[in-house]
Amino acid sequence: MTEYALELENLVMHFGAVRAVDGVSLQIPKGSVVALVGESGSGKSTVGRCIVRLLEPTEGTVRLADADITHLNRRRLRPHRRDVSIVFQDPAGSLDPRLTVGDIVGEPLRLMRRRGDLPAEQRDISSAVAESLRRVGLRPEVAQRSPHELSGGQRQRVSIARALISSPRLLVADEPTSALDVSVQASVLNLLADLQRDLGFACLFITHDLSAVEYLADEVAVMYLGQLVEQGPRERIFGVPAHPYTQALLSAAPVPDPSTQRSRRPVLLGDDLPSAIDPPPGCRFHTRCPVAVERCKTEVPESRVIGEDGHRVACHLVNDDGTGPDVRDLPTA
Ligand code: SF4
Ligand code: MG
Repeated sequence: MTEYALELENLVMHFGAVRAVDGVSLQIPKGSVVALVGESGSGKSTVGRCIVRLLEPTEGTVRLADADITHLNRRRLRPHRRDVSIVFQDPAGSLDPRLTVGDIVGEPLRLMRRRGDLPAEQRDISSAVAESLRRVGLRPEVAQRSPHELSGGQRQRVSIARALISSPRLLVADEPTSALDVSVQASVLNLLADLQRDLGFACLFITHDLSAVEYLADEVAVMYLGQLVEQGPRERIFGVPAHPYTQALLSAAPVPDPSTQRSRRPVLLGDDLPSAIDPPPGCRFHTRCPVAVERCKTEVPESRVIGEDGHRVACHLVNDDGTGPDVRDLPTA
């Protein structure tokens, strides 16, 4: 038995000429939360969709626990469906308005029953639905309602109840709060954190907002234009970010603890994310990197380990001990 809930090996997803994901390797230990962060357009959601096999990867491997699911067809995927669930950004778009909340939440179990692999303890689907709704803080009566009668926050709770009803080993949460009112974002994030702690599933938490991951994630992986540029334990990424892009992202997030962090101005990256159709040669970040040097334009930086705790970075200017430039210390132009 592997100790990982998920292993991605050199995952590649191209849509025609668009190189949305271009060689991502990542492991999620059982029961732990890995945050995948980066700007919109960096390929994070595409990684999530490959993991739940809404997409079939172009190259590489997706391994769920011990099963290689990379190229399984629909029929052969079925036994693995209960092991992984996804919660999308926009609950309004992911819940069928013609169904009741109870139908939506119970659907994964009904599909399992139809093919005869529903465990005995879940055969009573309506009580499983009530239990799943209770877990996400909704009353059982909500099962009778239609999703459009609910608030955005309640709808996202319904999505979470549906995703967790089959007790998956891995949850992919793709920007689960960014379409919600700011006033309810924190309560939905807290709910996810509580459920993860109580139920023990592993989680890939996809977000563009580094400040949101600080209390949820065990590890952080930073994605830029289809590739990971830095990954490691949360304390390392927040405390000693090594990649200039991570440093810039962190500089834009609110500083959580002023006693441990210098107050810094946000580093502005200027230009937009370059196109994934023709990514810049060398280091893909070189067109926006404040400390780029000549070799960055031609030489691809290898991902290297810079700490015994699995901290990795792909940047020419970071030394083997993790020291290097910090773009947050550059003088204001
Ligand atoms: Fe910047 Fe060069 Fe490092 Fe890329 S390799 S992040 S361009 S310094
Ligand atoms: Mg996205």
